[in-house]
Amino acid sequence: MEPKALNFNSRDLFLIAGPCAIESEGQLRQVLQHPTRPTLIRGGIHKMRTSAKAFQGMGEEGLEIVRKIKKETPFDFITEITDARQIEKMLDVVSVFQVGARNMYNYELLKELSRYNRPVILKRAFSATITEWLGSAEYLFNLGEKNIILCERGVRSFDTKLRNLLDLGSVIWLKKNTPFKIIVDPSHSMGLTPYVTDAALAAVAAGADGLMVEVHPEPACALSDGQQALNLQQFDELVIKLKKLAPIFEKELRM
Ligand code: PEP
Ligand code: MN
Repeated sequence: MEPKALNFNSRDLFLIAGPCAIESEGQLRQVLQHPTRPTLIRGGIHKMRTSAKAFQGMGEEGLEIVRKIKKETPFDFITEITDARQIEKMLDVVSVFQVGARNMYNYELLKELSRYNRPVILKRAFSATITEWLGSAEYLFNLGEKNIILCERGVRSFDTKLRNLLDLGSVIWLKKNTPFKIIVDPSHSMGLTPYVTDAALAAVAAGADGLMVEVHPEPACALSDGQQALNLQQFDELVIKLKKLAPIFEKELRM
């Protein structure tokens, strides 16, 4: 059975959460067995790592884990697509495709994705201007504006303390000037766990329609991005804060 496209309405503040990468069946089960478990689950299958020697994702084995666990516990799965040849193999498992920062300019990949009836999260490239980002979104035009979700994940700056510079100005501008949903990834923006929750709250205040947060049951053992992952208790604390904050901005948390 094909997953149905997510249908977000304007009051929703949606929270996508999960590990940077799917690492094992046990890891995904731990997230799903958590009492405040997310139902919009992210998890990398194919990872675009800066070093070719770093963990590249489990690939099809990871997809098989997701396929198996979804049969027992339904959830919507969001994962990055790094090559158009992966699309057909993922259609039965993936509700929303993610195009990563490194592929924002991969217009051929975007053209291919625009042929399928599946929402796409388009992340901003490290140094893309808003105009360039919107140029990439145009390649997805066929999907309809409701199915194009822009994701601010921070841009490269001269600063060295944080992984990236979280550009909340882009969120404010895009909400006023475009019809697209815009979400914020505070994990890759800040790059360090202690700052992720505050950045997430700031994103809601800036008008974001949603968040994508990296959560790992044991961040210290993560095969990628453990230094920026929330553990399950920190995730609970984020959820409590978001439930209080969302109504102030006429939103309702959906996860
Ligand atoms: C990710 O979300 O898994 C990721 C790799 O992020 P980005 O493409 O923003 O670097
Ligand atoms: Mn990551």
